[in-house]
Amino acid sequence: MATNPQVKVEGWLATIGESRPVLVHRATRLRAEGLTNREIGEILGRSPKTVSDYLCDPFGIQARERKNRYRGVCVDCGGLTNGNEGRGPNAPKRCRRCAIAEAKRRQTKWTQETITAALREWAEWADCPPSSLDAMASAPSIRVRRPVSGFLEGGPPLPSPGVAKAVFGSWGAAVEAAGLRYEPFWRRAATG
Ligand SMILES: [Zn+2]
Repeated sequence: MATNPQVKVEGWLATIGESRPVLVHRATRLRAEGLTNREIGEILGRSPKTVSDYLCDPFGIQARERKNRYRGVCVDCGGLTNGNEGRGPNAPKRCRRCAIAEAKRRQTKWTQETITAALREWAEWADCPPSSLDAMASAPSIRVRRPVSGFLEGGPPLPSPGVAKAVFGSWGAAVEAAGLRYEPFWRRAATG
């Protein structure tokens, strides 16, 4: 069997539109003829791993159970998230509906007015002014690499510390412009 990438592309093109059961059937027959996963993969235009899935899990039951096990809890509504991305850092934090709502919120144009309004709304929700760490925790695009205690998650959206700095000069200046009392995050962490 040639290990020519062309073979794989041709295999893939030839199997466009074929359902999984058909591919499972063909893989099973090729296996009965004595072909390896790699050789079958070249004919069907699939990876050896996918061929292995066809042969070991022909009905996709294990894959579905795995995805169901990986479903998490949406941070916004408490519903179930999609398990397709596994359990790792790519696992979604929100269900599909809340993820769309969050993406819309993130499109907010940050100006002096929207920043101060967001800071005040957050302060009302948390009953204390937001720290730059709260802002980082509220921005899904920024991953807090080392979890630090003392920040609150799940509140209304906040501008990122970088955006607040660009508009007001510093996070503290933005908080004070919103009429709130600035308190650095380490002070709150220290007092609990
Ligand atoms: Zn949700």
